[in-house]
Amino acid sequence: MTFETAPGRLSAIRLRMEQACRAAGRDANQATLIAVSKTFEAAEIRPVLAAGQRAFGENRVQEAAGKWPGLRQEYTGIELHLIGPLQSNKAKEAVSLFDCIHTIDRVKIAQAVAAELARQAKRLTLFIQVNTGAEPQKAGVLPAETASFVEHCRTELNLPVAGLMCIPPVDEEPAIHFAFLSKMARELQLEKLSMGMSADFETALEFGATHVRVGSAIFGRRS
Ligand SMILES: *Cc1c(COP(=O)(O)O)cnc(C)c1O
Repeated sequence: MTFETAPGRLSAIRLRMEQACRAAGRDANQATLIAVSKTFEAAEIRPVLAAGQRAFGENRVQEAAGKWPGLRQEYTGIELHLIGPLQSNKAKEAVSLFDCIHTIDRVKIAQAVAAELARQAKRLTLFIQVNTGAEPQKAGVLPAETASFVEHCRTELNLPVAGLMCIPPVDEEPAIHFAFLSKMARELQLEKLSMGMSADFETALEFGATHVRVGSAIFGRRS
């Protein structure tokens, strides 16, 4: 197996995850690798499924709806993660398609997801996206508003919040943002942390990531 194939790159990432966890004194199986398959077609995803990978990330509901129902008929045990922005008019489809949503970031979305969970009698793992760099163009709850937002989700909407997610600013040291998100999660008694991508997943694991979202390092460059 070589680094020229997605399964080869997948096993290299798994090895690096194990090493990063061990270096941080963590159990390697505490962290879930989400293979981010956005923009890649079913034919490119199949070899990664065949290699045993089961958790996948997509950033568009529509694109996921086109690819994953078919792949789910071919492979069992698939766990699908929505890692891109969600519109409230897509909540119904998102709740039925995904197992996990990482991008809850405003009351309207939280309400729409809560209503669909009740209607479809489903349980999903939910993350609140935090805009740790307070970037104007970026999705996510501002750090100063996160505690009250989580509280609102829990008490007003009865929405089970499992953890926090962030995408650090591209031009900043990611470790600072990972440490910050980890501290916020601890204070809010949230056990899951979705952080780290191809370029920085090892750093994220050092700061306690439970879910890393790795795309290009597995599937190759997106066009
Ligand atoms: C695309 C994407 C990733 C994966 O990025 P890579 O750099 O290709 O690993 C991770 N998280 C989110 C939210 C994304 O949109």
